[in-house]
Amino acid sequence: MSISIENYKKIKLELESKNITLVAVSKLKPTSDIETLYNLNQIDFGENYVQELVQKQIDLKHLNINWHFIGHLQTNKVKYIAPFVYLIHSVDSLKLLQEINKQAQKNKRTINCLLQVYIAKEETKFGLDENEINDIYKEIADGKLNYINILGFMTMASFVNDEKIVEKEFEYFMNIIKSYTNKNTILSFGMSQDYKIAIKMGSNMVRIGSLLFGARS
Ligand SMILES: *Cc1c(COP(=O)(O)O)cnc(C)c1O
Repeated sequence: MSISIENYKKIKLELESKNITLVAVSKLKPTSDIETLYNLNQIDFGENYVQELVQKQIDLKHLNINWHFIGHLQTNKVKYIAPFVYLIHSVDSLKLLQEINKQAQKNKRTINCLLQVYIAKEETKFGLDENEINDIYKEIADGKLNYINILGFMTMASFVNDEKIVEKEFEYFMNIIKSYTNKNTILSFGMSQDYKIAIKMGSNMVRIGSLLFGARS
């Protein structure tokens, strides 16, 4: 399956009127696909794998891309993306956040992060629960994480066809984070198959891959 400029333009139009940011998820896709969308003014791209992201960042250094890291991040790999990453969506433990803070300080920058919230019933999905989110905000209030900026929250629904289930999960997500949000909070949820539901439930940043670039093999 290959890239669809038609889908890109259609989705972009749909999102623009609602002020929703599109992160084009380019994992496992060639840099030529990224360049194609970049030439249509797409600057936000999402990647899942550290090694792949690092290589693409080198290959496309001449472009002004905002690199989003959206996959599960291992603590020992933070150092590779810390120099350039634009936004890490997938913070799923205090330990990981502490490592991001440490690597940000080493690189003399602050790193923007989203807290990934666990809502799906599937055991393979990562994320924080309410208590863990609380603990992280306590650490921040104590002034211990000065090189990170928490800009909002990210989540992933179960991979099911039943829209009601997805809607319930997104509703649960919005409830958990309610007390930490304001009008500027980034809410990153919605993928190819559920982005319309996500928008209905209040998403302001969607992460779309296969609808833009075609199915991944
Ligand atoms: C792969 C991925 C996406 C995009 O998925 P599509 O179904 O291809 O749109 C979004 N978010 C995360 C965290 C992903 O891993």
